[in-house]
Amino acid sequence: MHRQFCGNPALHNFIRTNSEYKRAREREYQWSALQAETNNALKRIITHANGYVPFYQRLWKEKGVDISEIVTTDDLCNFPLVTKFDIQQQPRSALLSRESRKTSLRHTSGTTADPRLVFRDETARIFWSVTTRRHFNEYGVPKGATVLRTHSEPHAPVRYEAGTSENWVLWTHVGVPNLVETPRLAERLRADVIIGSPQQLEVLAQFVYSSGDIRPPKVCINIAERLDSATRQRIKEATGADVFDVYCSSELSVHIAFECREHKGFHTNWDYLIIEVLNPNGEPANPGEHGEVVVTDLCNYVSPVIRYRLDDIVTLADSTCSCGRALPLQILHIDGRATDQIYLQDGRVVNALHLIKDLQALVSCPLTLVQETREYFTLKCYEISTRRTTVPINKIDKIVSQHLGVRVKLSTCFDELPATLHNETSKFCSFISRIPNEENAVSDTAIC
Ligand SMILES: [Zn+2]
Repeated sequence: MHRQFCGNPALHNFIRTNSEYKRAREREYQWSALQAETNNALKRIITHANGYVPFYQRLWKEKGVDISEIVTTDDLCNFPLVTKFDIQQQPRSALLSRESRKTSLRHTSGTTADPRLVFRDETARIFWSVTTRRHFNEYGVPKGATVLRTHSEPHAPVRYEAGTSENWVLWTHVGVPNLVETPRLAERLRADVIIGSPQQLEVLAQFVYSSGDIRPPKVCINIAERLDSATRQRIKEATGADVFDVYCSSELSVHIAFECREHKGFHTNWDYLIIEVLNPNGEPANPGEHGEVVVTDLCNYVSPVIRYRLDDIVTLADSTCSCGRALPLQILHIDGRATDQIYLQDGRVVNALHLIKDLQALVSCPLTLVQETREYFTLKCYEISTRRTTVPINKIDKIVSQHLGVRVKLSTCFDELPATLHNETSKFCSFISRIPNEENAVSDTAIC
């Protein structure tokens, strides 16, 4: 059956994606079918990793794990957790399957400042497309829609993907600096959907679409970083578009979860990956509690990812949703990275993002809080819009003291936002810690 399409890989992909999507749609609303698929996929990937991947062979042998014990996703807790540090310590050969498989390579900046190559199973492209189509369908993106995928590289030519993709949409890749310099380009492109980081979406909303001269998109999708409620509201007000959040990681084969259209949380793509949300004791968190995300990728046989600590903190949701989907509603909201923590002199640890949320409400422009030492902070404000913000310094000091429960030294400065947009792979950080010997120490710039 497949052989007749070998001369046309795009058509081959299109047909395989369509048939996989049909199966995925059926189980999306049937818990028993979904769970059977997930359990089987989990057993397959565990058996493969134990047979072909030296890192997992050694690790599970050391820990005395019996892989025959894995029957359902509930048994996954018997397997050891794997950290980024564990992975970084391994030679590449230990992480790759000894079985020969078609592989795709991706360079990722990761969620910390440690760029590395990610090896993925080539067939994962099909599953990536299915999870893309899943959230497009949820957000009412029609067949044939024009989707702009933004990047931050200046002066790069607009790149059109030929023909309708396997997601039934027309993709156009365009730089945000180009659109800001030439708003008429946005008019010509007539985007139905824009996908980008919160920063990119907000710049477009303020500089390109807020005037009302150019037809705004109907849907904006954040796919890069944490989207806070203030930024979401500003994008929505400036464009009139529905704004949705899709949770993903460049280290994984598929999107992790997508925000339900009813904005009640995120449905996990449970047939392609498993996520666990664990409290600080390593036990499953309860609904309403914060916990760190641990992921098992069911689609990557080239370089398996099993019980991997993703360094993200989320709030666990009640798993049912009024939309009737079987895909579990696991995440109520994404709280940020495990590295978004403020370490204070007296030993307390405070979540930086809650503080930043209140500061953003006051300052009303993008900002980055930098923890220079345990007692000294810098607040960088980026004035991106035509509204020149007068920053009330005394109120900033008060909010910081309230959140931290102690007075600290704080200096406020201003920076040019475009500097953070000139690198294609740059991501905007709202918090940077320079505390040494902690996992959250990152580079000197607001790029991570
Ligand atoms: Zn739902």
